[in-house]
Amino acid sequence: MMLGSDVSGLSATSAAAAAQGLSIVVPLYNEAAGLAALHERLIGLARTLHGRYRLGCEVVYVDDGSADATLSIARGLKAEALDVQVVSLSRNFGKEAALMAGLDHVRRGAVLFMDGDGQHSPDLVEKLVAHWIDDGYDVVYTAKANRDNESFLRRQAVHGFYALINWGARQKIPEDAGDFRLLSPRAAAALKQLPERNRFFKGLASWIGFRQIRVDYEPAPRAHGVTTFSPGRLIGLSIEGLTSFSVAPLRFASLAGVVLATVAFLFGLSILWETWTTGKSVPGYPSLVVGLMTIGGVQLIMIGIVGEYIGKILSELKARPIYFVAEHSEKRAESETATS
Ligand code: UDP
Ligand code: MG
Repeated sequence: MMLGSDVSGLSATSAAAAAQGLSIVVPLYNEAAGLAALHERLIGLARTLHGRYRLGCEVVYVDDGSADATLSIARGLKAEALDVQVVSLSRNFGKEAALMAGLDHVRRGAVLFMDGDGQHSPDLVEKLVAHWIDDGYDVVYTAKANRDNESFLRRQAVHGFYALINWGARQKIPEDAGDFRLLSPRAAAALKQLPERNRFFKGLASWIGFRQIRVDYEPAPRAHGVTTFSPGRLIGLSIEGLTSFSVAPLRFASLAGVVLATVAFLFGLSILWETWTTGKSVPGYPSLVVGLMTIGGVQLIMIGIVGEYIGKILSELKARPIYFVAEHSEKRAESETATS
């Protein structure tokens, strides 16, 4: 990087960008064991960023209804070099809702989303920030550099998921992009304007457009504990993402219907033809049963798909809040570093 700690090295545009500050949103669900260590690293990060860009930082911890000591530890964290907000949700609403709650509370311009389990390294943040401030990008997203440690089946499933969700979409969602990403002030403002209740964060962050750039990284192993996303929950999340973001499954349903109807029509023609040419009626009990079961099965699947969308419509219609805040506290950093 060409910039040293000398702030006069900043160009006018970079200085203007940095003046809006950075909010770091961290969703927390039972992360008591690693929280204090993470906070120390964020304090170090805030110092570095202030030294380099005069960038004022805050962190917004969103306690997503943790059952352990996460909230009490978060309350006790010191606002050193960066402001600290703690937003505690009334129960566990899930990560997407927690991210939304964080986004609703940020006080600075740019927003960085980061997991609270140490997998998203604070060290990489400097690079993300450089893409925003120095290069003028609006959405800096990260993607896992390799998936070698994941099973073949899982990789194929991920591949299929993105193929389906991006089918016919104008703005493609980049494959294997994670939730670790930085949004410039205008991108963050755009994301806030999206009103839907069923949120698929990766999709929305890509959909808003602006100048986007990808950064490959190697996620660190979880600092402690185990992932809360079991295969079952991931499948649920995928269905959620697909149906709240794309109508590809509905198109797929229509297409399957057309294909089946065409096959049935041709089959009918061939039966007619055979009857006419041989004069015998065609024995057809097995094919009849197979045909019936195929059509019945496909119809049930399609009704299920339509049902998913009706469920989405229902929940958008009810217009319930995405989360409830049980408690909110905030501390301002006293030092010079967070006050630009
Ligand atoms: N998380 C959350 N609410 C939940 C589940 C997870 O806020 O209901 C948070 C969790 O504390 C972590 C992040 O979301 O900061 C990612 O969770 P996890 O590490 O379990 O997922 P993975 O890294 O395996 O995708
Ligand atoms: Mg994790």
